[in-house]
Amino acid sequence: MIYDNHNRPITYLRLAVTDRCNLRCFYCMPEEGIKYLHKSQVLTYEEMERLVRVLARLGVEKVRITGGEPFVRAGLMDFLHRLAAIDGLKDISLTTNGVLTAPHVADLAALGVKSVNLSMDTLDRERFRTITRRDELPAVLKTLDALLDAGIQTKINAVVMDGQNTQDLIPLADLTRTMPVDVRFIEEMPFNGEGSHYPVLHWTHNRIIDEIRSQFPALEKLPDPPFSTSANYQIPGHQGTIGVIAAFSRTFCGTCNRIRMTAQGTLKTCLYDDGVLDVRALLRSGASDDGLTAAFLKAFAHRPLNGFEAEKKRSTVTESMSTIGG
Ligand code: SAM
Ligand code: SF4
Repeated sequence: MIYDNHNRPITYLRLAVTDRCNLRCFYCMPEEGIKYLHKSQVLTYEEMERLVRVLARLGVEKVRITGGEPFVRAGLMDFLHRLAAIDGLKDISLTTNGVLTAPHVADLAALGVKSVNLSMDTLDRERFRTITRRDELPAVLKTLDALLDAGIQTKINAVVMDGQNTQDLIPLADLTRTMPVDVRFIEEMPFNGEGSHYPVLHWTHNRIIDEIRSQFPALEKLPDPPFSTSANYQIPGHQGTIGVIAAFSRTFCGTCNRIRMTAQGTLKTCLYDDGVLDVRALLRSGASDDGLTAAFLKAFAHRPLNGFEAEKKRSTVTESMSTIGG
């Protein structure tokens, strides 16, 4: 196992397989004028498979496939089958907006995909259309049903946005009454392709929990699993759990075991850094596996202590989360 310069193990890779998306969530992307990467700038599946192999040898055990929307890239399921054959990789999971996912759920279950994070910020069709700029809630709900029917552990990700979906906190939390889902509320981050929406964050972890407690006073804190980014809670008697990811307040950096690879092959060792290694350039200049390993180890030895330190070292945050993968 590899440890970083702050003694945190690196065991988890988030891999963005594309920067393209079939939704336009306003907290993630501008509606128009998005400059997608040219196909030649995006890592090929062969390149991704190779770097996952190298990272698995270094102790990475879990890969989460993300994007953009993973299912808009052709050939995704074949790629997942190839990843499933990599020695040392114990867990392949996926984050998806659910629009194109339902037909693939049985195959995901057969592959051994243990968990899927489904992004769904509201249960109201009109608000969904306003937030994502597309009328796709019915397709997302179909995916939710398919995931639950297939017995895949499902987390629902909802970004909490002032003035947009705060009326959905209670209905989303209440899904846990009848469904074995983990509903996770995420503090909005400034990664929307344009810069921060608010001078200060209005809906912090504490405010989200206060709002849920106002309706469910018995809400209980659960112990958090190791490396969890969410603080976890449960309403007694409910099947599912509720989590809050303090992505803006960054309270989880002390146990961060994750690294990120963008679709163009840039390594990020912190969500808030500006990219620390051009892996695509290394791959395409003929680097050996040993050369790649040495470059990864050097990057892991210089990880920032937390997201605040990483942010200080860079210029203003203006990229879209669709290039980072969440
Ligand atoms: N398209 C897929 C999806 O939406 O699930 C995967 C990629 S998306 C970038 C991954 C996660 O990042 C989603 O759950 C999304 O809600 C979250 N996200 C995107 N922009 C965000 C922002 N500005 N602040 C907080 N979370 C964000
Ligand atoms: Fe697409 Fe996911 Fe970004 Fe929404 S959050 S625009 S679904 S990449």
